[in-house]
Formats: sequence, structure tokens, C-alpha cells
Amino acid sequence: MTDIKTTLKALGLDASTLQKGELEIVTPVDGSVIARVPATPVGEVGNVVARAQTAFEAWRTVPAPRRGELIRLFGEELRRHKDDLGRLVTFEAGKIFEEGKGEVQEMIDICDFAVGLSRQLYGLTIASERPGHRMMETWHPIGPVAVISAFNFPVAVWSWNTALAIVCGDPVIWKPSEKTPLTAFACAKLFEQAVKKLGDVPANLVQVVVGKADVGEALVDDPRVPLVSATGSCRMGRAVAPRVAARLGRSLLELGGNNGMIVAPSADLDLVVPGTVFSAVGTAGQRCTSLRRAFIHEDVYDQLVPRLKKAYGSVRIGSPLEAGTLVGPLIDGRAFESMQAALDQARADGGKVTGGERALQDRFPNAWYVSPALVEMPSQTEIVRTETFAPILYLMKYRELDDAVARHNDVPQGLSSCIFTTDLREAEAFMSAAGSDTGIVNVNIGPSGAEIGGAFGGEKETGGGRESGSDSWKAYMRRATNTINYSRELPLAQGIKFDL
Ligand code: NAD
Repeated sequence: MTDIKTTLKALGLDASTLQKGELEIVTPVDGSVIARVPATPVGEVGNVVARAQTAFEAWRTVPAPRRGELIRLFGEELRRHKDDLGRLVTFEAGKIFEEGKGEVQEMIDICDFAVGLSRQLYGLTIASERPGHRMMETWHPIGPVAVISAFNFPVAVWSWNTALAIVCGDPVIWKPSEKTPLTAFACAKLFEQAVKKLGDVPANLVQVVVGKADVGEALVDDPRVPLVSATGSCRMGRAVAPRVAARLGRSLLELGGNNGMIVAPSADLDLVVPGTVFSAVGTAGQRCTSLRRAFIHEDVYDQLVPRLKKAYGSVRIGSPLEAGTLVGPLIDGRAFESMQAALDQARADGGKVTGGERALQDRFPNAWYVSPALVEMPSQTEIVRTETFAPILYLMKYRELDDAVARHNDVPQGLSSCIFTTDLREAEAFMSAAGSDTGIVNVNIGPSGAEIGGAFGGEKETGGGRESGSDSWKAYMRRATNTINYSRELPLAQGIKFDL
């Protein structure tokens, strides 16, 4: 298996220069330190923003299709380095190699989307109430965008933001998770390659700052950053949102999820079983869209639960670098502790836990592998309403769909949800205004694994932001409403007479 040094080298990074900083980068694969990188001094962040502003002044006047060409070239770099970057994601975040490559594929997809978008930054033409007048909307670049990202999607989330921001005319300042800066350096290198190929591109369109919350806060507080796009826990969002609001900036928040599933009596259980397993144990339960709660109709509960237990028993836990592994490690020991604490609480609340133990301790004494847990709960207690970033799936029975939907919605988060049913009425009711209250609502597929073509994000404590497809690009631009008078009169709006 290719080692970390070779992987870094293939991505244009020199492993020996990544050994001199104070931030230790630990691979969750075996718990070893793979790099030591310097944090950006907080006092330096202002200079980074100033450089982004200079880049903005040049980039905003470059025609959008040419900005799209840069993203097209970047997409080509990603295609060329898909395996290398995917492997680095595996080393740094611990997700299995297939999912690491899947993340890079998502980057490629959003690049393709953004290239098309670069020729479609349309505004409306609006009927004016005044004769000889025309109204229209124009969309302009907004300015430097700060992207704060989480450890679990170390590259895709950045690319969702960056591919759109760059075609929209905005430079990006990226603060990756302090746990995953190497993938950020690699992406910045690949982006640089695309910049070189296009030529005549302002410097500093993409800059990376490294560090913990204090570095993020310096970006968040800077009034020269009109948009802060922050992905991470609700705790982080609660700290970031008021600070951006205090300077009347714009924030795009992508925070925690506590995603639910309803399994109706008519559900095709042959779809439910694999859909559940992928959604609940994929990325070791460390996706914002991971399935965490299942409401199963009492008529099918006794059929489904043994099938789920059997499927869970056959899931292969192992090194994420090895082919055939489905469940890799948790990110660190703290994640393991919070999983165990959640399971203890669930037991105290009357839950029956299957799985959840530490795994592969002999082979990886310094890493944190677990067997995914199924927890049969008598009711939706407080611990079920809490996002625990680990593979725990709470199973609950229901009798009436209305009650299941009400319980489904009775959590603080609102990211993703699904129903398995072959009853059209139930499917439509779940997607209706009185149905699921999440930003992503699926029928007959699990809640995780979104496509880039749709707007991604959620409601309530998930933060309300939308990224990626559909019209999410509008968040990265400012809208001007233009009224043009081509008549020889000056009629006022609302029929006001103002005779001089
Ligand atoms: P985290 O909140 O610990 O950190 C996320 C990022 O925020 C990091 O870069 C961190 O340094 C930064 N940060 C933390 N406090 C900050 C502050 N006060 N000011 C500025 N920056 C700050 O999250 P994590 O553990 O890396 O990721 C897991 C969480 O992210 C889960 O809750 C998961 O659901 C969520 N997540 C959400 C989405 C989504 O799209 N909704 C996607 C991925 C992850």
C-alpha cells in the first residue's frame, strides 16, 4: 500500500517540510503522527484577507466564462489526481479509500457544474410600472469568502464553496479543520497548477490558513470578508453566527444533523436493509447526513430488526486503506469516548444495545475502531435527540404515520431524512409542508450521499445554509436591481407627483 510520503509527493507536497510545525497531524488509521504543520499566526490573518481583497479587485472584472475555464482546468487536475487525493483523505480523515475517492469525485462533479454555471449567472428582467422603463437584476461578485470546514469532509465541502465562489468572482480563504490541513495543502497545490495553466490569473485567489478556532475567529470578525461559509458542529455555528451578525456580515451555516428514517409497512425491506447500513455505518457514522434514528412500523419491526442485526454482523471493520473494508476508524479517542457515553446513557434510558464495542485494539492500539451500534429504544429520549458523531442507530417503533413524522421532527437539527414506502400517499405526505422539516427529504433511499446538483443544507440548528447545486450560487454574489429610464419623462414610482 502506498505510504503517506509517496502520496504527498504525488500531490506536489514535500513530506520533509511538513514536519516543522506545532500542530500534530495524527492519522486515525493507526494513530501515528504523519505531519507537524505550523499554524497561521492569528495576527497574520488580516494580511491574508488584504491579499484576497487585492485578488478580488482583479478577478471580479474577469468575464465569468473565463473564470469557469479556471475551474474546468482545476477539475482536470482533480481527475488526474483522484486516487492520490482520495488516499490522502483516507490517511487524514480515516474514511475508506472508496469514500475518499468518492469525495474527490464530488469535487470533480461540482467543478463541472460550476463550469456550466459560469455561463448562467442569470438575473431576471422585471416588468416596470413606469412607461419607458426597464428593470433587471444583475449579479455581481461579493468579495473574499471565508470557508471554514470540518474534518469529516475535508475536501468536498471546500470545493462546493470554492468552485462556485471562483466562477462567481470571489477569492477564497480556507480554514480547514485543524485535524485535516494536509488535504487542504494538496487542494491548494492542485488549484495552483490550474492557475498556472490558465495564466494571467491574479495571485491569491485561494489561500489556506491553518489553525484552531482562534484563526477561524479572526476570519469571522474581519469586515472585509462579506461571506463566511462555515461547516461543522452546532456548537461552532453558535459561536460563529453572532460574531458575523455583529458586523452585519453574511453567513452560510452547514451544521450538525440528526437524520431520521421512517420505514412504513409497505416498504421494500430489500432496499431498506442496504440503505440503512450504508447510511448509518458509512464513514463510521461520521457524516453530517449519517442515519441516526429509525422509526419502524410495528408491523415490520420484528422482520426488519433481525435482518439489520445480521447485516451489521457482516460489515467488515478494518484499515480504511485495505480493499473490502466498509467501516474505518473514528477520528480520535474523544469521538470514541462520546460514543461510549451516548451508549451508556441510552442503556440508562432503557435502550438495548447491540454492538458499539471497541474493535481491532490489538492491531491498532493507538487508533479507535468500533463495531457499529444498533440501539432499540423505548422512546426518543434526550440522547437520541443529540447528534453523536459515531455509528449509532437508534431504532424505535411507531403505529401511526402522523406520530412518526411528529417524533421525527422533534429534534433540534433539520438536515436530512427519508421514508421507505411504496404508498404514494405516505411518500407525498412525508415530503409535504406538514411532513419532514429537513432540508433534504428522500423517498426509498437513505438520508446520506447527496448529489451535487441539488442544494445541500438544512433547517433549525443545522443553520439554514444551502451549498452546492440548484441556485446556491446566489449566496456568493450580491444582487443589484437596475431601473433604466429610456423615455424623455421622469415618472416617479407609486404614481407620486413631485412638481418643481
Ligand atoms: P467542529 O465544529 O469541531 O469544527 C469545524 C470547523 O470549525 C473547524 O475548522 C474548526 O476549527 C472551526 N471552528 C470551531 N470553533 C470555531 C469558532 N469559534 N470560530 C471559527 N471557527 C471555529 O466540527 P468537526 O468535529 O470538525 O465536524 C463534525 C461536525 O460537523 C458534525 O456536527 C457534523 O454534523 C458537522 N458537519 C456538517 C456538515 C453539513 O454540511 N451540514 C458537513 C460536515 C460536517
